[in-house]
This record gives sequence, C-alpha cells and structure tokens, in this order.
Amino acid sequence: MASFPVLVLNSGSSSIKFCIYDAGDGQRDKLFEGAVDGIGTDLGKFWMKDRDGKKIVDETPSLPNRAVAFSLVSDALHSGKFPAPAAIGHRTVCGGPGISENQIITPELVDEIESYAALAPLHTPIAVYIMRQALKLFPGVPNFAVLDTYFHRTMSELVKAMPIPAEFVAMGVRRYGYHGISYESIIHQLQPDVPQKLIVAHLGNGASITAIRDGKCVDTSMGLTPTGGIISGTRTGDIDPGVVLFMLNKIAETGVSAKQAADKLETLVSKKSGLLGVSELSNDMRDLRDAIKDGNAKARLAVDKFVWTLQKWIGGFVAELGGLDMLVFTGGIGENDIASRAEICTGLEALGIKLDAAHNNVRGEATISAEDSLVTVRVIPPAEDLMIVNHVMRLLTEQPAPAKLEAQIA
Ligand code: ADP
Repeated sequence: MASFPVLVLNSGSSSIKFCIYDAGDGQRDKLFEGAVDGIGTDLGKFWMKDRDGKKIVDETPSLPNRAVAFSLVSDALHSGKFPAPAAIGHRTVCGGPGISENQIITPELVDEIESYAALAPLHTPIAVYIMRQALKLFPGVPNFAVLDTYFHRTMSELVKAMPIPAEFVAMGVRRYGYHGISYESIIHQLQPDVPQKLIVAHLGNGASITAIRDGKCVDTSMGLTPTGGIISGTRTGDIDPGVVLFMLNKIAETGVSAKQAADKLETLVSKKSGLLGVSELSNDMRDLRDAIKDGNAKARLAVDKFVWTLQKWIGGFVAELGGLDMLVFTGGIGENDIASRAEICTGLEALGIKLDAAHNNVRGEATISAEDSLVTVRVIPPAEDLMIVNHVMRLLTEQPAPAKLEAQIA
C-alpha cells in the first residue's frame, strides 16, 4: 500500500498538538501523536505516543516561548524516526471575513489570517507563527488551513448578522462560530444516519453548542470570537455589553493607555471570567466537582450557571429547529463529566429529553437516553485530527500539483 503521511498541527494558546496519519490509498492510520504543553512556563510537557499508544517521548522541558516549543516538535519530526510529511493540515480557528473556505496556505494567506487575529486572539498568533515555520521547515510540502469557522458558513445572513452600525459590519464584525472541525467530525461519525434535527454540545475548556439541520449548521452559540455564547472555563460567554463598558470605565480610571485598557479588558473577559471567575477557584470541571463535594458554594454557582446557560440554548435551538431528534455531548466535559450531562438534561423532559442514569454512568462513546426518551442522547468524542486529514486529502485533489506549489510557496 502506498504511504502518504499527513502532518496535523493544532495549536492552542499554550500548547501545540500534532500527529501524523498515513492517508495513502484511502487509509486513515494514525502513526503517532504528541503535544508540547505549558508554553510560557518553566515546567512544560513534551510527549509523543506511537500508534499503539506507547509513550516514546515524555519530557518536562522549560518552554519560555512558542519558538522553543515548536523547535521541539520540528526537531522530532526531522529526526528521521518518523515519515516526512507529504502534506500538512493546520487547524485554523478563524481566517476573517474573506476566508470562509479551507485552502492551501501561501504567505499572503498567512498575512491575511494574521490581520484578523483580534477575532481569535488566544489562537491566531501562535497558529500563524507555526504556519510560517512549517512553510520554511518543510519546503515544497503543501500546507492547508482547515478552519473552525468552515462548518458554520451555512448559517443564514439573519443568524450571522450583528445588530450594530454598518461601518463595523464592513470591518468583518459578524457571527462566525467556532469548534466547527469538532462539529463536522460528529456529523462524519453519524454518517449515514445523520438525524434531521440535531444539537451538538462541545463542552471543553471552551464550550459551544450548535443547531444542525440535515447535517448543516443552522445556528451556533459562539459569535465574533470564541468568547461569546456559553459560559466556559475562563470566558464570559454572552454578556450584557454594559458590563464590558463598566469594566472599561473602571480600567480607564487607572490612567492606562487605550491599548493597555483593551488588553486588560481582553484578559478579564477571556481569561479571568467564566467558571474560573464565578468559582474563584478553577476553570477545570474536575476541580469544581471536587469542591462541590466539599460544599463549596461558589463552585456550585459556577457549575449551575454553566448548566443553566446550556439549558437555555438547547431550548432556543429546539424552537429554531422546530423539534429535536438527537442531542450529542462531546469535548472533555461532554465526554467525561457524568454529572454535567445529568444536570443539563434534568428539566428538559418537556423537550422530549430523558436520560437513563445507568447508561449515563460512563465516560466516552455511548447512547445515554432512556428507552422512552423522544430524543436520542449520545456521547461521541470528537475526531478533529481525522477531519483535518480528510480536508487535506480532498483539497489535494482540487489544488495544483506540489511542484507548482513549491514555486508559489518559495
Ligand atoms: P480543550 O477545550 O482545551 O480542548 P477539553 O476538551 O480537553 O478542553 O476539556 C477540558 C475540560 O474537560 C476541563 O474542564 C476538564 O475538567 C474536563 N474533564 C476532563 N476529564 C474529566 C473528567 N474525568 N471528569 C470531569 N471533567 C473532565
């Protein structure tokens, strides 16, 4: 069988995840995966696992910046122990208003994505750094941007529009939606029986929820940035704009520059709010569940707020879809936090949602609804890397040959 190694690079604000699939002859064989985590700290983590899940690298390096972090990944990839990539897929959170399709990466495209970094400030700066490095380090190898916003391109103008003055709309301010690669991967796993009316809740450190009709996105909770929508680990979710203005005025009173004030505000709404802000303890659901067991009222309030927000979105989406056939939980909390799933579904019986407590008592893939539930409730882990590989392989058949690309990328 011909081998065709595809490297997937997926960067977060403080991590770089990577894996190589062999995609030759239609196969999707994950050869290895790894991650560098804790960028900006003295005690980072660098690990790699082989195809059998055996750790082949397990280190705790100092990771002062993203350059050091990415050099670990690139040194490993160039060590000769792993197949050289024939193509590279980059998870790309947002490309801005002009980039709604997944596509080949050129230096110009990287510049354009960078110019809209304000739409995904935690993700885009490191992603564009890695794109530029990958173009340099793997000359002639085609790189592709696979967008989290791509799945949401089917939302109507009504849903995408923001109720703001037109001058800002012209600057690209609208609802984009995120976690799209995860949502696509759920649809992919449900094939060929994709229910007509589907809601998927991606509940991780960042959380969002999406209404899907006939496999296409109708509406999603995140808006211009991944800070909107559901309350999540450290982000506010949707919030009265007056709160943001109140914070801004308070920051302005300290006499900082406009840029400093904007940065402080960004930190407050994106990194200090959400579950962390309300609990004053942690953004991690496991910590909050432990604290709740110890009677911590703030942790209880934070989780209740999370659950309540999700219930309201589910109710709204059922109205928007005109009913519901299936609800899917995914992401770290969706897959693992039995209590969150139970709390979210409790009280939604009027919408036809009824869990089976015993079936729900699992981690990972399962059907967790009761026999007599009108809505099927499932847990399905996302397969984002696989989706990125699928897009890369599709795009390769639609793009110019690598020889031409080499000239384009040089
Ligand atoms: P990211 O958005 O960073 O990819 P993940 O999808 O990995 O995040 O989800 C992280 C969240 O999942 C954290 O809040 C974490 O506490 C939660 N989580 C992971 N494992 C468990 C578990 N066993 N029980 C409860 N929550 C869990």
